[in-house]
Amino acid sequence: MKRKPKLAIAGLTACSGCQLTFLNCEREIPTILDRFQVSFFPLGESSGGDDERFDAALIEGAVSTAQDLATLFALRRASRLLIAFGTCALFGGVAAMNNQLCDRAELFRSVYGREPEKDLIPPAPFTNFVAVDFSITGCPPEKTDLVALLGSLLAGTLPPTTCYPVCME
Ligand code: SF4
Repeated sequence: MKRKPKLAIAGLTACSGCQLTFLNCEREIPTILDRFQVSFFPLGESSGGDDERFDAALIEGAVSTAQDLATLFALRRASRLLIAFGTCALFGGVAAMNNQLCDRAELFRSVYGREPEKDLIPPAPFTNFVAVDFSITGCPPEKTDLVALLGSLLAGTLPPTTCYPVCME
């Protein structure tokens, strides 16, 4: 029997809305799960093994902590194709819209009333840190773009162009 392609779906600093686009594909999910093995999807409580390899990883969110970077690098190493999934991944989104004039640690203290975690780093799109094979923009991305991407992956290719819906940021 032909091996199902393995998918990882993950989020860095973000609202999880892009990952929810996957869960919102109610009609398509039975077919998707029939054709793919979703091996890593923490939002769906699937965490995979340490040495797991993926055919494609869809990642949402910006990098704003050292843990985000570690997750991103690990998924880049483990995945043949890495897909930037949504506006935050591509442009930084909400996480990168912080007040540039304000010290981040100071801002953290004023909002949360405690010292910030030690691993904070300036928020940035993850495309600043790793090579990306394809991207789907949108906040959140369109379901149809996600389904088109998955269809292309099954055919062993990628959609002809990166998808750009009307609202990019
Ligand atoms: Fe949420 Fe929009 Fe960022 Fe996706 S792109 S994680 S929907 S804020």
